Amino acid sequence: MLHVARKKSFCKVLGPGERSVIWFHGCSKRCPGCIASSMNESDEYESYQPEQLAQWIWHNHGIEGITLSGGEPFEQPLEFLEQFLAEIRQKSNLSVLCYTGYRFEQLIDEEKFQKILQHIDVLIDGEYRIDQDTGQRWRGSENQRFHFLTPRYLSEKENWFTISERQIEIELEIDGALLLSGVPSKNFIDDLTTQLNHRNISIDFS
Ligand code: SF4
Repeated sequence: MLHVARKKSFCKVLGPGERSVIWFHGCSKRCPGCIASSMNESDEYESYQPEQLAQWIWHNHGIEGITLSGGEPFEQPLEFLEQFLAEIRQKSNLSVLCYTGYRFEQLIDEEKFQKILQHIDVLIDGEYRIDQDTGQRWRGSENQRFHFLTPRYLSEKENWFTISERQIEIELEIDGALLLSGVPSKNFIDDLTTQLNHRNISIDFS
């Protein structure tokens, strides 16, 4: 089973175009400043068979691709992750972006990880480093790199590395909780949390 902390059908701030985003549950890295730490440490998640997760994707009409985030996708049961991605690749032209706290070099030499990498268009790698958080688009910190593993977005490569533009999406849940998606600017979370706590409003970050 794949353990999913959160998923969002339509998101415009975690990769090009409109994308379905899956936040996998759990990460062993514990990077200082990780915005997903409470989500990762929570015991709230849902478990899916690969085909169930793919079914959810097929309902999200009009998306350009999917983004895998977390949590740590490469710490999920890899045979199930591979099945899920293989189905997406075989049955659609959706692009696949994947965030990981591992470095590309740690993944590429191992066959079990290669089976996942073969389905990914762009891998965004490396742990979040708060001292290198300079406001880059789609990256938490400058040490994180875009690896273009297929030609899908290769012609846009220069823009991906140079654009400084942070965007987030905030949704208000029916129970009053706020859900935030995207890569926020440094200190944004602390400032917003402080302000909301004064008003007895809780917020969930991914
Ligand atoms: S690798 Fe990513 S999800 Fe894991 S602790 Fe670091 S920032 Fe958080």
